[in-house]
Amino acid sequence: MPRGMRAAATVELDAIRQNVAALRRRAGGRPLMAVVKSDAYGHGMVPAARAALEGGASWLGTAVPEEAFGLRAAGVTAPVLCWLWTPGGPFRTAVQNDVDISVSARWALDEVVDAAREAGRPARVHLKADTGLGRNGCMPADWPELVAAVRAAEAEGSVRAVGVWSHFAAADEPGHPSIAAQLTAFRDAVAAAEAAGLRPELRHLANSPATLLLPESHFDMVRTGIAVYGISPVPDEGGPADFGLRPAMTLSAALANVKEAPAGHGVSYGHTYRTPGSTTLGLVPLGYADGIPRHASSAGPVLVGGKLRTVAGRVAMDQFVVDLGGDLPVVGDEAVLFGPGDRGEPTAEEWARAAGTIAYEIVTRIGVRVPRRYA
Ligand code: PLP
Repeated sequence: MPRGMRAAATVELDAIRQNVAALRRRAGGRPLMAVVKSDAYGHGMVPAARAALEGGASWLGTAVPEEAFGLRAAGVTAPVLCWLWTPGGPFRTAVQNDVDISVSARWALDEVVDAAREAGRPARVHLKADTGLGRNGCMPADWPELVAAVRAAEAEGSVRAVGVWSHFAAADEPGHPSIAAQLTAFRDAVAAAEAAGLRPELRHLANSPATLLLPESHFDMVRTGIAVYGISPVPDEGGPADFGLRPAMTLSAALANVKEAPAGHGVSYGHTYRTPGSTTLGLVPLGYADGIPRHASSAGPVLVGGKLRTVAGRVAMDQFVVDLGGDLPVVGDEAVLFGPGDRGEPTAEEWARAAGTIAYEIVTRIGVRVPRRYA
């Protein structure tokens, strides 16, 4: 991290490229949709999307329309699927910008058809089936009606059914009974769509854990998020290196203060930590406003001066303290919270464990005050 910076999330774009290539190999060379929602899981949407495309991704996936339009505004022309819509949403802008629209319900199809008529061109839709996640997607009981309505809209020229898709509930838990049930339900949904006369080119179901562990779920395309960024979605099954992945993000900060403290010194709010002996304390200028989980108080690991330390006491809004055990790093020295692990630094997964969460949340929540640097 260059001198003068408080903190930085440094993103290795080549890791993203290589991760996409590794995931495509894992998926038998199938097309890959890189999921770049939530600012590419905190990595910076546009640079991450470009790197993923360079690495061999041919599709991009976003949750909300603003993300899809952000890609288009940046000049990204690759196919984009956007899946989280609400009534009155910017369907016409999506059609005009060649953004594929996920349709889970009749109300959305009706709005898409209106938007396509206004835009004077067909909307490209991917029909989403609820195969068992119980979140978005059309229930099996409503599927025949939705499929028939899409077929009618297709005949009229207002939509083109490009895809049928769904999302797993527990692909990260190998052997979970929902996996087999969802595969069957997905095949049934595709068969029903085809029986109704739809000819979707893309059947897609696999997220990162399914891409890594469930070849039978790969269908026509895999839709990977967290693994693109080099984080294992199944840490109990293997770390990034076991899957040929490399974590792309390193989060570091410059120590803002280093001082000696006597034994019994209370540290940070609530004095939940007291120095066990005379020691040195380092101040890391990152806090929960920057996405450092408060639940990692007295638990999160940090590399300072080549040694692993632990957060001492509570993580505050903008800062936290590490007990340096009597060592005397210089103010301004780098504290590395997480990274690929090459230098002995912790990983995002270790922070997730310390905070009782998942690594997805650790990287996604790194806040806007932390500049992203690209290496
Ligand atoms: N597909 C959908 C619909 C999602 O919401 C997500 C992310 O949660 C993904 C794919 C990518 O999942 P993962 O990051 O586990 O690969």
